[in-house]
Amino acid sequence: MNAVLVAGGGLAGAASALWLARAGVRVRLLERDLYPAHKICGEFLSWEAQVWLRDLGVDPARLGAVPIDRVRLVAGDCIAESRLGFTGQSVTRLRLDAALLEAARAAGVEVVRGCQVRSMEPDGTVLTSHGPQRPDLFVAATGKHALRGMPRSREGTIDHLLGFKTYFRLRPEERQALSGHVELILFRGGYAGLQLVEQEMANFCLLVSADRYFAAGGRFPGLVESLMAETPHLARRLAFAAPLLDRPLAISQVPYGYLWVHAAGHPANRYPVGDQASVIPSFTGDGMGLSLHGARLAVRAILTGAGPEAYARDLQRDVGPALRRASRLQAIIGEDPGRHLMVARLARLVPPLLTTGARLTRVSQGSVKALAGPGAPGAATARFA
Ligand SMILES: Cc1cc2nc3c(=O)[nH]c(=O)nc-3n(C[C@H](O)[C@H](O)[C@H](O)COP(=O)(O)OP(=O)(O)OC[C@H]3O[C@@H](n4cnc5c(N)ncnc54)[C@H](O)[C@@H]3O)c2cc1C
Repeated sequence: MNAVLVAGGGLAGAASALWLARAGVRVRLLERDLYPAHKICGEFLSWEAQVWLRDLGVDPARLGAVPIDRVRLVAGDCIAESRLGFTGQSVTRLRLDAALLEAARAAGVEVVRGCQVRSMEPDGTVLTSHGPQRPDLFVAATGKHALRGMPRSREGTIDHLLGFKTYFRLRPEERQALSGHVELILFRGGYAGLQLVEQEMANFCLLVSADRYFAAGGRFPGLVESLMAETPHLARRLAFAAPLLDRPLAISQVPYGYLWVHAAGHPANRYPVGDQASVIPSFTGDGMGLSLHGARLAVRAILTGAGPEAYARDLQRDVGPALRRASRLQAIIGEDPGRHLMVARLARLVPPLLTTGARLTRVSQGSVKALAGPGAPGAATARFA
């Protein structure tokens, strides 16, 4: 194999590039952002994401990640709590993505920052802000939105929610109460995640319907105020909290539930990875795990010559079940406060339901072990209690 061009230097792009470079493949990676940047993400690293990061030589703990092993589900004034069943970690994407990209560079990947991929042409030419390129093989890792020339079907996806993320500095007593927990807060029109990351910051990430957002004045501070008015728990957490970003990051039209399907005529040298291949609902906190798992499958198909069709089959087998269950669960939970309250009350009555929900909405332990191999760092200890 000659040259692989990877578009996008997020988790999936950097991981694919690094694994390929380690196998001796010449790789060029194009990343749109000139400098490391914050990303919209809850920043919860599941156990399987940690397996792949260890395999890539990136240790979240060394980046300052904080451990999380409990989950709280909040709806109105009802709070349910349970063990997660594994120890997650939480670290900003700013640090994590930069570390992974640096590891890729150290492994020999040519990393070009500040270069945008504009389109994939039918003849295999990749048009970029730095001119056209003609790679032997193209890996699309540009995230949630379709790349021109690689259209995606949005049929059956849940794509009407707006996403926001910011960081807060909480009062010490609230920080302490949040420590070790990921909190999932359901509200009319959506849900939010709250958890600590490094440097004692709290990540506050939410998905909300446009109706709810505009009913709250169409501005983020107004939305947060209205959420605090609706949920006493959130009001307590965020009382006197200092926002740490000038303005929140925002995103729309994330196609939750999307899973790439190989279609007849798909070029043999194109591989979508990460969110280009699968988008699991955010409440699972497993988008990064799926992205890394999928990237590993793509790299295996590239290195063995099995091709994109085999990769798509592997993806369906390993990622499909969790993704479909998570999408169904998101549809069941819905956006109605009455239903939210029922779900939270049930979880308070039977807390292990939360652990089971967490287990069923991620890639199975067996799939990770089978792909990572018994010798892979972290694979032997990978577990879901
Ligand atoms: C609200 C929300 C909360 C989430 N919370 C979690 C969570 O807690 N835990 C979890 O595991 N997952 C979470 N996810 C999912 C997770 O963020 C994604 O699955 C993950 O980021 C996918 O990685 P990726 O590399 O495919 O894409 P990205 O991380 O989006 O990376 C894509 C990269 O490509 C670059 N790029 C984009 N377009 C171009 C272009 N045209 N040319 C060149 N470069 C380009 C971007 O700058 C970026 O660096 C969440 C997602 C959302 C929306």
